[in-house]
Amino acid sequence: MAEGQQLKQRAAADVDRRRQELIDLSLRIHANPEVAFEEHQSAEALAGFLEANGFAVERGICEIPTAFRASAGSGEPRVALLAEYDALPGVGHGCGHNIIGTASCAAGIALRPLVEEMGGTVLVIGTPAEEAAGGKVYMAARGAFDGLDCAMMVHPGNRNTAVAFALACLELDVEFEGKAAHAAARPEAGLNALDAMVAAFVNIGLVRQQLRDSSRVHGIITDGGQAVNVIPHRTAAKLLIRSEDDEYMDEVLKSKVLGCFEGAAAATGCGLKYRWGEESRYKAMRTNRALADAYRANVEWLGRKVMDQESHRSMGSTDMGNVSTMVPAIHPSIAIAAQDVPVHTVEFREIAASEAGHRGLVDSAKVLAMTAIDVLLNADLRKRMREEFRGQK
Ligand SMILES: [Zn+2]
Ligand SMILES: [Zn+2]
Repeated sequence: MAEGQQLKQRAAADVDRRRQELIDLSLRIHANPEVAFEEHQSAEALAGFLEANGFAVERGICEIPTAFRASAGSGEPRVALLAEYDALPGVGHGCGHNIIGTASCAAGIALRPLVEEMGGTVLVIGTPAEEAAGGKVYMAARGAFDGLDCAMMVHPGNRNTAVAFALACLELDVEFEGKAAHAAARPEAGLNALDAMVAAFVNIGLVRQQLRDSSRVHGIITDGGQAVNVIPHRTAAKLLIRSEDDEYMDEVLKSKVLGCFEGAAAATGCGLKYRWGEESRYKAMRTNRALADAYRANVEWLGRKVMDQESHRSMGSTDMGNVSTMVPAIHPSIAIAAQDVPVHTVEFREIAASEAGHRGLVDSAKVLAMTAIDVLLNADLRKRMREEFRGQK
């Protein structure tokens, strides 16, 4: 598609022309890390950048002060680039979201003059709180991703991949209610809520063997009793359960994990209270393969070799999973670090502000713009994306 190639080169040239401006913006966000829902300055820096470059910007969408939506062009198709910009408590931008936010805005800005020629709408949607609480979960429930042809973002990482695997993730809060008693003088008068909690964790350890490979169950005890000479009358824990498959989570995993707590309650005579955090549940990522193939061709054209997609299955979770159940979506990774450097570390944080990070930023912006051009121009691609998406439902 010669026309497409020429438009892609124009978009890439726009990103190159702004290279220093993009790096400065990324470094500014990096130097001022703001955690979930507190990303006021980061969101404003990005929204202001889009506004200064011809986008119509709505701030505070979905009743979230640090969310925004910027749009350029009009009508269909409608392509959304998602911007994340929250940091981690303590580690700062150890997940490189300074790069994600800047790259999606840069791609949008490069596309703006082109959508006027091609037709269609490009949106940059600012999505806070990926690292905690899951801003996209709330935004999805409030319609932020309705009516889109696709949603895309690129995450910096330690590999170049086109297909993301991310687990559904659900929080569980539990509490055991026993009966306090003097631990030495009258232990037989008590009901030991800590015994119940220990038994439940042992049960989970045993049940784990019978779970599907990709399942994860992990937790912490948040209240293990108050005094060593008192039989604990109350204990509490918080767990996350994860699965590659939302159906397996609903039909198997939840009841198996709950059974571990119910069994412990029966064994110790303690009462059990629990609460599933369904309202903040992360869904499993459904990468749209047709869109991922377009992405892959573009990123390889930029000179990055994409890893065999199935051989590396990242087992984290992301709120992009929820978006991927609503519209065709991709969440590829672009390498800025060596394979042995994990995200969420101080080392990765430093790389996110380094020359390798800047190269990842520039390539992310280019590949997002190029892939958006494919979607905007190619009706057959859109049809394949839609059909695949419907088949996944
Ligand atoms: Zn992260
Ligand atoms: Zn991240």
